[in-house]
Amino acid sequence: MSEEKSLNFLEEIIEEDLKSGKYKDIVTRFPPEPNGYLHIGHATSICLNFGLTQKYGGYTNLRFDDTNPVTEDTEYVESIKDDVRWLGFEWKNELYASDYFATLYEYAVKLISKGLAYVDDSTSEEMAQMKGTPTEPGKNSPFRDRGTEENLDLFARMKNGEFPDGSRTLRAKIDMAHANMLMRDPVLYRIKHAHHHRTGDAWCIYPMYDFAHGQSDSIEKVTHSICTLEFVPHRELYDWLIEKLEIYPSHQYEFARRNLNYTVTSKRKLLQLVNEKYVTGWDDPRMPTIAGLRRRGFTSESVRDFCDRIGIAKRENSADLGLLEFCVREHLNKIAQRRMVVFDPVKVVLTNYEEGLVEMMQSENNPEDPETTHREIPFSRELYIEREDFMENPPKKYFRLAPGQMVRLKSAYIIKCDEVIKDEHGYVTEIHCTYLPESKSGHDQSTIKVKGTLHWVSVQHAITVEVRQYDRLFQIEDPASEDGDFRDYINPESLVTVNNAYAEPSLKTAKFDERYQFLRKGYFTLDKDTSEEKMVFNRTVTLKDAWAKEMKK
Ligand code: ATP
Ligand code: MG
Repeated sequence: MSEEKSLNFLEEIIEEDLKSGKYKDIVTRFPPEPNGYLHIGHATSICLNFGLTQKYGGYTNLRFDDTNPVTEDTEYVESIKDDVRWLGFEWKNELYASDYFATLYEYAVKLISKGLAYVDDSTSEEMAQMKGTPTEPGKNSPFRDRGTEENLDLFARMKNGEFPDGSRTLRAKIDMAHANMLMRDPVLYRIKHAHHHRTGDAWCIYPMYDFAHGQSDSIEKVTHSICTLEFVPHRELYDWLIEKLEIYPSHQYEFARRNLNYTVTSKRKLLQLVNEKYVTGWDDPRMPTIAGLRRRGFTSESVRDFCDRIGIAKRENSADLGLLEFCVREHLNKIAQRRMVVFDPVKVVLTNYEEGLVEMMQSENNPEDPETTHREIPFSRELYIEREDFMENPPKKYFRLAPGQMVRLKSAYIIKCDEVIKDEHGYVTEIHCTYLPESKSGHDQSTIKVKGTLHWVSVQHAITVEVRQYDRLFQIEDPASEDGDFRDYINPESLVTVNNAYAEPSLKTAKFDERYQFLRKGYFTLDKDTSEEKMVFNRTVTLKDAWAKEMKK
């Protein structure tokens, strides 16, 4: 973050709190529910929570908000830890809201004892009927005035498993006419005979979000509890519970959810894409999940840069996928190793090049790096170039290969096209060229200037690899809010596979954590589907923003 950048509203609050001496250190937490993989929206929350304590001192906890036994799973817990670490952050404590179940139970007993909570035998339909509307007050439940002893006894029996699911709840006793609907005797506990991924069958009553989140914050002495805007109306209840329980006063602050255009960022919808096999899994490179971005070849630096650039806001809006792509291009341009790969080959034969001769050409691994190393690329009489880099009847100002025209082969020689060989259908099978021996890159004595430089591979040395070219998963900006089903807007060309692309042999030793620029093609990284038989590369992003051009047309 640059020094001149103005403070965001949370930084202003924190600086004020530190100045006034309210806190010496600050404590934040990132509180995912382990019911799915983290996505790019979560990344903003992670960067925010961890970023604040890095900047101001103190620490951040990772707390699994695991109070809903039905949707949660340890697979998700592991993936979340992996993803936070990958983003470059380390938490102080790994915590689970479920570890507080006993404490939360004690808190509930305390509220009952103070006459501030009661067991309600109403069904959820009856409760909904008594709730009122924003303009009309609700009605008191007939069970609202139960005595403390009876409430304590019933609550203990709820815990002991004496009652079926949904037959009773514990509710706070606040005010059924309250202007804030969430303050109309909110439910604190429900009965659910369900197996929990950590506590097993120890509990059959589970606290609601509002009776777990703020209490967990308080137990951990979180100073600034940051959540998204939909929790604004919950803040009153958050404060009420902390006050009545007389526990450590954490404070809740809200910022706007970040969504990304051309995708969906709701775990429920992402789960649907996985379950219904629109994608191959949570880490499909088209998914906006952190696991997907990772596999696609995004760097954590570029994701953090993106989060930093979009900043935080108090009003909800969508971030532009183009900006995320811009961030990754910027970073990859600096770090990616340059390589040559021909996707759709046509053979070039250099008729004046000695048969059997192989020269090793020197090429920079990264011209953006002042300390770049070089690699060797074998050059021989028969080469592949891209079929689209040749045209038999070119228009004016065509600088690639055409009959009678010259181009430079990257890091090698200038060649001139003499003859085009075709099969009986008129399909070009070979292009016969001559090379200019005096034009070797780095030792060029030819004084000829050519405008086009092409990538190439030597036929006998090339390795075949699979290339997966990914594009945005949805065709429209906001698939979630459009009419109809978001799945109707899936981009049918979000994955285009080239089964046999021809790569320079140095890619044989490609590594998973390495990034590559395939010259003139885009940025690529090795995919985990790589096997002994075949290397698979994912396109992270194209070299230029093709969509921006598309929009201007
Ligand atoms: P989803 O709607 O995708 O299921 P969630 O809010 O239920 O998301 P949690 O696991 O509860 O997911 O979120 C953990 C933290 O990440 C919360 O503090 C939440 O506010 C924050 N968060 C989730 N989605 C976004 C988003 N799109 N932008 C910013 N923060 C987010
Ligand atoms: Mg949630």
